[in-house]
Amino acid sequence: MTVAGLSSGRGAGFGAVQGRVGICALLTGKAQHADELLVASGCRPRLVSHGPGLPFHLHYASVRAGLASRVKALTAAGLAHAIDDGAGSRLRVCNRARCGTVFIDISRNGRRHFCSVRCANQVNVANRRRQRLTAAR
Ligand SMILES: [Zn+2]
Ligand SMILES: [Zn+2]
Repeated sequence: MTVAGLSSGRGAGFGAVQGRVGICALLTGKAQHADELLVASGCRPRLVSHGPGLPFHLHYASVRAGLASRVKALTAAGLAHAIDDGAGSRLRVCNRARCGTVFIDISRNGRRHFCSVRCANQVNVANRRRQRLTAAR
């Protein structure tokens, strides 16, 4: 399952007003895409108990559906819940070229640009190499 479209605002240089419009458009795009994933995955939430006295919990797809279908429905529901909870602006695509991982930035300041320390280190090392080469010329 890919979440294409989440990266549509990457690298945009937002001014004050343009920023708000751009961020709204980006969030709308994320919401539309998450909604499409809900439909495509066949997400149909149900409250289920597996027997008398056992607790009720949510199933996002039928128990009879295969594991892949259940994971797709749960993932689509998770993305939709993140947007519904106001965390849509924290749904991001990793800034490292060719990574493509979508992540939720749970950092305190909300300024993470990479899915992992590994991706951040690779980009930082490449940037330092480039700076050293430029300075040596
Ligand atoms: Zn269950
Ligand atoms: Zn990454």
